[in-house]
Amino acid sequence: MIMPAGRQAAGTVMDAVSLSPLYGTAVWWPTVNTFLDAITADVPGDELAALPLPDSYRAAFVRRDEVEMFNGVASVDKDPRKSLHVDEVAVPELAPDEAYVAVMASSINFNTVWSSIFEPIPTFAFLDRLGKESRWGARHALAYHVVGSDAAGVVVRVGSAVRNWRPGDRVVVHCNYVDDQDPSSHDDSMLAANQRIWGFETNFGGLADLTVVKANQLMPKPRHLSWEESAVNALCNSTAYRMIVSRNGADMQQGDTVLVWGATGGLGSYAIQHVLNGGGTPVGVVSSPAKVELLHDVGVSAVIDRRAAGYRFWADEHTQDESEWRRFGKDVRSLVGDDPDIVFEHPGRQTMGASVFACKRGGTIVTCAATSGYMIEYDNRHLWMKLKTIKGSHFANYREAWDANKLICEGKVLPALSAVYPLEQVGEATLQVHRNLHEGKIGVLCLAPSEGLGIEDPELRARVGEERLTAYRRHGA
Ligand code: NAP
Repeated sequence: MIMPAGRQAAGTVMDAVSLSPLYGTAVWWPTVNTFLDAITADVPGDELAALPLPDSYRAAFVRRDEVEMFNGVASVDKDPRKSLHVDEVAVPELAPDEAYVAVMASSINFNTVWSSIFEPIPTFAFLDRLGKESRWGARHALAYHVVGSDAAGVVVRVGSAVRNWRPGDRVVVHCNYVDDQDPSSHDDSMLAANQRIWGFETNFGGLADLTVVKANQLMPKPRHLSWEESAVNALCNSTAYRMIVSRNGADMQQGDTVLVWGATGGLGSYAIQHVLNGGGTPVGVVSSPAKVELLHDVGVSAVIDRRAAGYRFWADEHTQDESEWRRFGKDVRSLVGDDPDIVFEHPGRQTMGASVFACKRGGTIVTCAATSGYMIEYDNRHLWMKLKTIKGSHFANYREAWDANKLICEGKVLPALSAVYPLEQVGEATLQVHRNLHEGKIGVLCLAPSEGLGIEDPELRARVGEERLTAYRRHGA
């Protein structure tokens, strides 16, 4: 148990009833499981709001005193099972514009990999910066960092300034954390000077039984999905939506061809759906026959297995090989008859040279990440002579996240859930993503005692189709 000085530890999550050490009488001791019982019994929101708050809750976190534990270890060998702990932490105070959400399920995002291997920098630097901003920010700068940037659950308390959400609301959480009193957040909030990603650049993230979020991070839970299916979408779906659909991203038009790297990964699995829904033609790049088959199953016919093709974009650590870019570009063209109007980039250093080369004259390379390295090299002649644009993108503003969530709620975009782990095994789940052993998204059960719970609209589920909803799960099994 990690508790700030001066606070008393409550019982563990199993200790709903404890014996008073002083009087020897049975006393009731609230835990987060009290919320689970109430949610399971479907009690009205005002009863949920009246339940006493526990002092502590179960959470997955990294520790400030361990940020050097992987010094000298190669990135790929850094093991999140060693750095991610699951234990009780203190319930933080609630700010007026915030809500407590009892988290039924969460998901692993790549930022949990970054947090757990302390790269590119330990996330405590973010928490300390936030800690200096205000009294409420100061809550975040702790000896531990509760990670996780996705959640599905139930609102159990709201602060005095919250208007649109009530205890009992079933919600998903998006991770754009902005200060709405900052004028720079009032156009595109992703341009806000102090925009942050909840659970990565803030504390009290979603891989836990309880979380603290700003009310403007809340969105309705898709009624036809289970808790774990609902929990995996917000971060990756919203990011892919902004990159492909939004005017802030590549603003895809009907008929566009879109090259999607990592097309069965977290981002890619949503990117291909936005391309297909918008009347575009996706070209998916993946790294195994099983992933090729998965893409065919979900309606993508133009697929490249990059491992089978054996591209060597880098002849050595310092030199790229243009003939390999050409071979790649030719392979894309042979599949769809043209160069891609849009390249959906995130692998970074390994692929950016090829992406800039392969993109169509006048096309857009939209990038949100650099998994394989952020010091990027490409041949600028291919960019300027062919009037291409490299567009940076990062998560999504509330409106974009809301619109992307609406597509999930309507069954027009499907969750890419391939595997589910209990919170206790968050380290193992994160390792799967770190080592690229997964497909789509990995869900994590927090308060939800088992999979398949939380479906409120079975008719819509039937209309969307069980087969389609579970395509990634079947492949992940
Ligand atoms: P993911 O689930 O691990 O998927 C990434 C996919 O990229 C993998 O499935 C892999 O597919 C492919 N890949 C990995 N290394 C590659 C390489 N060297 N060359 C070509 N392909 C490679 O991760 P994700 O959730 O999609 O996230 C991807 C990146 O985006 C991460 O760095 C993450 O931090 C970042 N991200 C940024 C934002 C943002 O808002 N800025 C949001 C979400 C994610 P194959 O092996 O099948 O090719």
